[in-house]
Amino acid sequence: MRNAYMTDELEAIYEQTVDFVAKEVTPHGDAWEEAGKVPREVLHQMGELGMFGLRVPEEHGGLGLGMLASATFSEALGASTFAGFDVTVLVHTDMAGPHLINSGNDEQLAEWVPKMLAGEAIFSIGVSEPDAGSDVAGIRTTAVKDGDGWRINGRKMYITNAVYGDLTIVAARTNLENKYGITMFLVPAGTEGFSVANKLDKHGWRCSDTAELILDDVWVSDDQVLGTVHRGFYETMKNFQNERMVLVGMGVGAAQAAIDMTNAYTQERKAFGGHLFDLGAIRQRMAMNQAKVDAVRASMYHAAWMHDAGQDNVKAMSGVKAWGCEVVNQVMYDCVQFHGGMGYMRESAIERMYRDARILPIGGGATEVMLEEVAKRSYG
Ligand SMILES: Cc1cc2nc3c(=O)[nH]c(=O)nc-3n(C[C@H](O)[C@H](O)[C@H](O)COP(=O)(O)OP(=O)(O)OC[C@H]3O[C@@H](n4cnc5c(N)ncnc54)[C@H](O)[C@@H]3O)c2cc1C
Repeated sequence: MRNAYMTDELEAIYEQTVDFVAKEVTPHGDAWEEAGKVPREVLHQMGELGMFGLRVPEEHGGLGLGMLASATFSEALGASTFAGFDVTVLVHTDMAGPHLINSGNDEQLAEWVPKMLAGEAIFSIGVSEPDAGSDVAGIRTTAVKDGDGWRINGRKMYITNAVYGDLTIVAARTNLENKYGITMFLVPAGTEGFSVANKLDKHGWRCSDTAELILDDVWVSDDQVLGTVHRGFYETMKNFQNERMVLVGMGVGAAQAAIDMTNAYTQERKAFGGHLFDLGAIRQRMAMNQAKVDAVRASMYHAAWMHDAGQDNVKAMSGVKAWGCEVVNQVMYDCVQFHGGMGYMRESAIERMYRDARILPIGGGATEVMLEEVAKRSYG
């Protein structure tokens, strides 16, 4: 067993996922980075293998597992070393998907869950805007009641999976009197007035597609309201711990891969009559990096376990998100350093992994925002 929280089922999920990414992702990742897109076929393949249903209740065709399964899955995806691929999958399964699973009514679940499980419809979550990211309550997109539905106007920014995806779960302000008066809507791609303004050009996560979206008088029916009108802010907040965790999970998986490849490289690379790894400065720094990654991994699984045991894990998970994502970046920095000039070359995996890691302390709750969550819960 890899850790105390593992079960045979979780262990099998880990092994299956690591095996899948080694065969179906890592060998093709460079081409996907170049294309700026993860091919739909690989997502279909994952759907066929049941990889999108870990958190979907059994009555809707999934495995009905808890947060520990998402920790396991995200860490295993991280072993791909292509974080753009990892996030494509995790936005679908663990960042957008849970909104539908947790708030969808019977008709919405019947319509969208089978497509989600099969990878026939890829999901995105549209909360951030050009003028509001960390401050979710500051969003300006509005939805106004119009007949049997709602008319949505606004812009969304940095939305993962929204260029090539099929369904965006859009947050819009429905109560102008109350800053928390937000509602979530199911907006399929192709809806009149709903368009991609830009496919954004990113520092890392190059094979993940990221959109700036325009909602220009988009009309959606009442049936497309997800959850309770005006309660979307609170419903969204409930999914934040999981979203934060999978970002750490994929980071831990990637950091471990980076450590392994750097240890191997420095054990091969000859210098000063021996190998780089024989130099105390390098072997000790890498040993410390391993200790830190082990600690982040253990803290993440513990915070997931707290959730599955019915405990409030906001303080624990926020701390892991803040600290863990910084650790992942420190590890990537050292791994580039110890690859020397090769670590600076586009052809080396570590160069890409270093770029990919930079978003982790920003997206899904910036480090400073996470530390406020911890601080607020630290008064006696
Ligand atoms: C590649 C990528 C993919 C993304 N995918 C999605 C997606 O699928 N869906 C979606 O809705 N959003 C997505 N985002 C948006 C992401 O969640 C936001 O970028 C993030 O929440 C930060 O918001 P912001 O960019 O508006 O920065 P701001 O809110 O303007 O903050 C800028 C910086 O100020 C600091 N800061 C902010 N608040 C505080 C505070 N309270 N105290 C101290 N310092 C603070 C932080 O260092 C922060 O990085 C994505 C972003 C990127 C770059």
